Amino acid sequence: MSQEKKIHVVRIGPGNRENMTLRALQVLQDCDVIVGYRTYTDLIKDQYPDKEIISSDLIKERERCLQCVELARNGKKVALICSGDPGIYGMASPMLEVASEEGFTDVEIVPGVTAASSGASLLGAPIGHDFCVISLSDLLTPWELIEKRLKNAAAGDFNIVLYNPASHKRQDYLKRACKVLTDTLPQERICGLVRNIGRENEECRITTLGQLADADADMFTTVWIGNSQTRVYDQRMITPRGYDK
Ligand code: SAH
Repeated sequence: MSQEKKIHVVRIGPGNRENMTLRALQVLQDCDVIVGYRTYTDLIKDQYPDKEIISSDLIKERERCLQCVELARNGKKVALICSGDPGIYGMASPMLEVASEEGFTDVEIVPGVTAASSGASLLGAPIGHDFCVISLSDLLTPWELIEKRLKNAAAGDFNIVLYNPASHKRQDYLKRACKVLTDTLPQERICGLVRNIGRENEECRITTLGQLADADADMFTTVWIGNSQTRVYDQRMITPRGYDK
């Protein structure tokens, strides 16, 4: 039996209720306060009309975590929500960092379906073999390191999943990443994009690396780049489980 925690870092999946785990639904049902970035609290607030909802801006991550500790210390059961899996570019690490600084230990991380896998299921089976996930956001990571990771992933023939292909401020992350990748990968390499997974206006598209640079991608898009074996059958991306020997 797991001990009842006071702060639960919950993923709400890509955005639709069906893709939430039973544990995540249970935590939201049992909590007193739901805290999160407005995009996510807006997605679920109608389902929890009796809960206190605290929405905040994306940049105030640390403050949000501190607020959770304060609420929990005042006896509230808090659900800190984010999309996908909280451990993948999500609130799990800032929350645990703040908790450790504050000497607060009652934190449960509730796992969820990350965009790499929820979007993959819409494209077919693009990550059927070894894959890596790279965020193109240089907000917290130097661009040189992002380029190095892209190059190494391409050299290793990994399927590559790109998160944060664009932001409000920077529209050209994806173009720049494609430039790095096409140094070594062929233009006809199979790629896929999914926008708004599990949400209104969900869009799914299969294309090639050569065309990816000019594809429409925003901050709610995830991108899959096939490995050397990836092919398309009946509008679906398939990466085989192995290599023909
Ligand atoms: N914790 C999240 C990732 C947050 S980083 C997860 O595990 O999925 C933000 C990036 O995730 C976005 O720029 C996008 O690339 C991807 N993403 C998150 N939700 C998405 C959705 N509903 N549709 C498409 N991409 C999504």
